[in-house]
Amino acid sequence: GFSRARRIQDIEVSEIIRIVADANALRRQGRDVILLAAGEPDFPTPDNVKLAAIDAILSNQTRYTALDGTPALKAAIQEKFRRENGLSFALNEISVGPGAKQVLYNVLMATLDQGDEVVLTTPCWTSYLDMIRIAGGVPVTCPCAEDSAFLLTPEKLEAAITPRTRWLLLNSPANPTGAVYDGGALEALADVLRRHPHVGVICDDIYEHLVYDDARFVTMASVCPDLRDRTVTINGVSKSYSMTGWRIGFAGAPQPIIAAMAVVQSQSSSNPCSISQAAAAQALSGPQGVLAERRAVFCNRRSIVVDALNAMQGIHCLLPKGAFYAFASCQGLLDLPQVRAKGITTDSALCHYFLHAHEVAIVPGSCFALPGFFRISYAASDHDLKTAMARLATAVSQLV
Ligand code: PLP
Repeated sequence: GFSRARRIQDIEVSEIIRIVADANALRRQGRDVILLAAGEPDFPTPDNVKLAAIDAILSNQTRYTALDGTPALKAAIQEKFRRENGLSFALNEISVGPGAKQVLYNVLMATLDQGDEVVLTTPCWTSYLDMIRIAGGVPVTCPCAEDSAFLLTPEKLEAAITPRTRWLLLNSPANPTGAVYDGGALEALADVLRRHPHVGVICDDIYEHLVYDDARFVTMASVCPDLRDRTVTINGVSKSYSMTGWRIGFAGAPQPIIAAMAVVQSQSSSNPCSISQAAAAQALSGPQGVLAERRAVFCNRRSIVVDALNAMQGIHCLLPKGAFYAFASCQGLLDLPQVRAKGITTDSALCHYFLHAHEVAIVPGSCFALPGFFRISYAASDHDLKTAMARLATAVSQLV
């Protein structure tokens, strides 16, 4: 019979995809499920971006493009890095691929040898762990709990580094916690990296534009220019410009790394979609007002969700500084004898109960390597969020 390649034998399609499928199956049975599981903005792609794509089609920009990005898109990315991050990259220090996810995959495939280690924090986006494994690497996780605001400390980083460490992988603002590193926190990590010249840094900055209150987005290559030669800065248009379906992500990195990524891309996907590239160039170089507008909406939704969660017995949630997720502890609830007596002893069981009995789909913390929590995506309408929070409050009150 069929057996999978050893490379992917222990890897499954992401659990989040399964939860979304469950929720959709309930919807097809006519149940009014509110889906707060997905990691994508609910807004449409801005009109100027859509029009640029239509123009690209009508002007026959429908053929293969340069392998890792059209000159026009690379120029727009170059300008974005300069304008927003104070980073200067030559065009051949930029790589464009079909989504930030694929770009990260290209980096890992291009740089990891069997057994090479990648240090990262948990909780984390689980794709990181599986991508590292598929590329033959070994994820080395540093648990970073609530008491450290989910941030990596220099001590933990120092302890995790071995002669096999190839990369530190940072994600700020973070999925699923919304944690954001400030310049001082990055400087402190950089001090450790300076003592270990064999370790590079990959920064996944995909949530760059989603930071709230006094939080400011910063990235390692800007804060510590002396590390630029071993830093890969990944970003994309999916979350910022509500373009998840268009599949465009990019990286700025030293030329030899970009060249190695081109090898992987040339023998797999080849160039990203020509039309999406034209759209992304418009997103990055057209009017930017949409960023602040949508950020303000997200900021308000964050309060709706976090305030409601903190009013529920047995649940508490730190105010996330960025992204569009609330990551709440439900351990207090799971520890109650009357809750355990109902058979709800894990975050997964709790989320299953929320979905099946109260029609709200959210993701258990175990999907992000931190059981005892759950993640709510507040990339949904205010009305849906308020309804969902009322349902969860009822769900909790019926358990306790
Ligand atoms: N990085 C993180 C941390 C994410 O949460 C996601 C999407 O969920 C991505 C990258 C993927 O972005 P893209 O749509 O550009 O592949």
